[in-house]
Amino acid sequence: MRAEFDHIVVGGGASGCVVAAELVARGDRKVLLIEGGHSHRHPLIDMPPGIFKLIAGNKYMTVHQTAPQDQLDGRVHDIPQGNVLGGGSSVNAQVYMRGRPSDYEAWDSALANNADAVLGSVTAHYHDSAPKWLVRADPMSKCWAPAGTRMNTGSTCNALVKRERLDKLEMYFNPELGRAGCDDADLFARLAHSGAVILMCPSARVSEDVPPSRADIEYLRRRALRVGQSYARIIKPYKSPLAVANFHIQALLRWLILWAIEPPMRLIRPDLSLRLRLVRWRNSGKLREFMGLHLIEMY
Ligand SMILES: Cc1cc2nc3c(=O)[nH]c(=O)nc-3n(C[C@H](O)[C@H](O)[C@H](O)COP(=O)(O)OP(=O)(O)OC[C@H]3O[C@@H](n4cnc5c(N)ncnc54)[C@H](O)[C@@H]3O)c2cc1C
Repeated sequence: MRAEFDHIVVGGGASGCVVAAELVARGDRKVLLIEGGHSHRHPLIDMPPGIFKLIAGNKYMTVHQTAPQDQLDGRVHDIPQGNVLGGGSSVNAQVYMRGRPSDYEAWDSALANNADAVLGSVTAHYHDSAPKWLVRADPMSKCWAPAGTRMNTGSTCNALVKRERLDKLEMYFNPELGRAGCDDADLFARLAHSGAVILMCPSARVSEDVPPSRADIEYLRRRALRVGQSYARIIKPYKSPLAVANFHIQALLRWLILWAIEPPMRLIRPDLSLRLRLVRWRNSGKLREFMGLHLIEMY
């Protein structure tokens, strides 16, 4: 038997079932949901305290193990996952915690100002092994602008977007581009260009743990180049040729000034030198994009 589908959703867990149901609700799509686990028809699954029996070891649960954790004295940690239709939502304890009002007030007030998207700030926490001067430079924390500033682009690291706005424009996050930590800026640029209001809300904060592999000069260099490249790429379709030329002239001037003043800083103020280098690399990215020199497509 051969069947054809418009969408195939792999994994009938909490999110897979929602995605499949939403696609089916559109009415004109044939959807196949593939679940690798068991049927969810079992009395233990229907009652919340069933978790105590299930968690002790059961065909409805697959228990994965973490890599040895430095912070746990090298011990490994069990990570259970539902192996059943409904995934974790079939076997979980149905516990939910209400956030404190202050967790949401900042988002709420920004959205009340008719914003279509709100960008929060990111506070980075570095690994103990990160050099002190790098932590002082704090290159991974982000807060681009004061509260209420209207933004022309952004990134997904801490963002709340009205879904209807994306649906109407048929725009969606591309997780592949988002992995680079900056290319999803393109989505925000297109959103702003379509007339959407994107507001900055620094008090809507998230914390991000920075692994040692990212507290690394080479990683930061590539990231800054990517960011510059992305900005240069996204302004092209929206600005006049004169404005684009001006953007690149400014990038060239900044690059030259930083190239001259940054090296002597390395010995006296390595943290300041890193910040200046990040700006220089970002401007290199803009120039490379202008010259058609594509760096890397993906991290
Ligand atoms: C024991 C336990 C207790 C929990 N308690 C709570 C709680 O009290 N409160 C709370 O909010 N959250 C709780 N959670 C977390 C919550 O259930 C999960 O965060 C949520 O279900 C994750 O949804 P998901 O769609 O990302 O993944 P899952 O729900 O895990 O879905 C993944 C699905 O993919 C299927 N699958 C995997 N590989 C394949 C494959 N190759 N082919 C086809 N299918 C595949 C799996 O069988 C599973 O059904 C708990 C989770 C567990 C496991």
